[in-house]
Amino acid sequence: MLGYQNKVLRINLDNKTYSTEPLNMDWAEKYIGGKGLGIKYIYEELTPGVDPLSPDNKLMFMTGPLTGTPAPCSGKLAIISKSPATGTILDCSIGGHSAIKVKYAGYDAIMFEGKLDQPGYISIEDDKIQFIDASDLWGKGSHETEGILADKYGTDTTILSIGPAGENLLPISCINSDYYRQAGRGGIGAVMGSKNLKAVTIKGTGAVTVDDSKKMVRKIAEILREDTTTEDNIWAYTDGTPGLVEACNDGGILPYKNFSDTTDVKWESYNSESIQANKHGKKGCGSCGLGCGNFTKIGDAICEGPEYETIAGAGPNCGISDLETIVKFNQVCDDLGMDTISASGALSYAMEMTEKGIHDFGITFGDKEKLIDYLYLMAKKEGVGADLVMGVKAMAAKYGGEDMAMHSKGLEFPLYDPRGSWAMGLAYAVSDRGGCHMRSYPAAEEVYAASIPPYTAEGKGKLVYDLAIYNAVKFSLIFCDFWALGLDRMAEVMTLATGKQFSEEDMNQIAERVIHLARAFNQREGFDRKDDTVPKRILNEVLKSGAAAGQKIPVGDFNKMLDEYYEVLGWSKEGKVPDSILSQL
Ligand code: SF4
Repeated sequence: MLGYQNKVLRINLDNKTYSTEPLNMDWAEKYIGGKGLGIKYIYEELTPGVDPLSPDNKLMFMTGPLTGTPAPCSGKLAIISKSPATGTILDCSIGGHSAIKVKYAGYDAIMFEGKLDQPGYISIEDDKIQFIDASDLWGKGSHETEGILADKYGTDTTILSIGPAGENLLPISCINSDYYRQAGRGGIGAVMGSKNLKAVTIKGTGAVTVDDSKKMVRKIAEILREDTTTEDNIWAYTDGTPGLVEACNDGGILPYKNFSDTTDVKWESYNSESIQANKHGKKGCGSCGLGCGNFTKIGDAICEGPEYETIAGAGPNCGISDLETIVKFNQVCDDLGMDTISASGALSYAMEMTEKGIHDFGITFGDKEKLIDYLYLMAKKEGVGADLVMGVKAMAAKYGGEDMAMHSKGLEFPLYDPRGSWAMGLAYAVSDRGGCHMRSYPAAEEVYAASIPPYTAEGKGKLVYDLAIYNAVKFSLIFCDFWALGLDRMAEVMTLATGKQFSEEDMNQIAERVIHLARAFNQREGFDRKDDTVPKRILNEVLKSGAAAGQKIPVGDFNKMLDEYYEVLGWSKEGKVPDSILSQL
């Protein structure tokens, strides 16, 4: 198939060697690229039960057949491994320009194996691969690291790096690129840190060949005109995700003080208008028709963003409404290489535990100075920071307050209270990498569009399945989450790029395969129905205020949603993928 480079670069860090091999095109036909194909490689190559922080875990950068083409929103890189935070499969996607450089350097994917004997980084310039000492970079923040390497290699080189959080193997660490873009969740930065790999620099001077470039360019122009830069979509450019603050507050799903309630009377302090008033520029990823990045600067606090999750996590969920603190939180987390969702989740849990007198973490809701100070302690695992970076599941196991530990499978919740969007609760519970909103995002239907009643279990298993199918294709092709077109459009573009006919039904089948395979990986690691759950707070405590006041997800309804989800996928009552499906994978 065209669109691919038909080459995987395999880098052995143990003995500082590398080799190339053809991309497995049988797998590419079945799993496309990105999330799907990356999971297939990791599933096949990892020994079950492998320690995610051992040299035997692998780290894979994966592109897709559209990477490097002008298809709108196609510039993201998938990074796949086994998660140190959850022990599940882990795939993240990172914006910026790294995916395009990987492809232009001549590769579909790069697999990192083993461990460097001392801190180093890898320089990739087309087929020239160098292993370079990074002892002078080790300990530095991602921003400084990227600046030093950009000075050395120039602006046509893209850089992926980790900060101190990844070096110190924190399960809440991320990989950074383009200064403010992250592969954020599941501790993917710690996998890189465990390999003593501080950074990867990539320069590519090649190109991508598609099957019918003229038709493809015409199709892309049509998509841009009719579907991407439209009135309905332009909010992504003008407001970006901060626009969700108002929608979530109005809909009763904006978490407040560690999900103890929803809605915040001070929401206008950190809504989209407030961010627009402090906007200092725009930035987008490669091959993007939208360019959602907003630079915000208040005082000496500056970041690209903040995105909704960071605003809600460091803001109302920590009892804070000061936008400068939120921007600073974003800036510091990015530099230290920490996931803003998990870091704010750990801090809000610590605040509630302290206020309720269960364990004194020395921080309470609204303490904006300590919110920032604690990040530095966390990155270095110093004092109370050493506890906070364990993640809320491990903190609750050590100090109690399990009902207040907002996570699924050990991954801290994104910032949508499921009691106001029941299907969101199911989406968190069944997500392949733990509590995550990127596998299925039913809040859009249940709350923003209000097209489906939110407080019922009826049809929610099927709803979460349908959305998961859509996202599995989106992240395998790899489109940005802002790609809002249907499977039919994805099949059309895929056909024009590869020269192989793909239908909407084919895309549907590929997505099911990806979902089954991710589940099979987790099943092999011992996960089943008992792990597909949400904290008791969501099932037992009703919300006190806001549009969803009086709501919880009753246990019976939660189980009904879960049963339906398993049934649609053909899994057993215990959530197991049957042998008949496993053998087809
Ligand atoms: S919409 Fe935003 S996140 Fe998505 S590709 Fe464009 S700039 Fe990147």
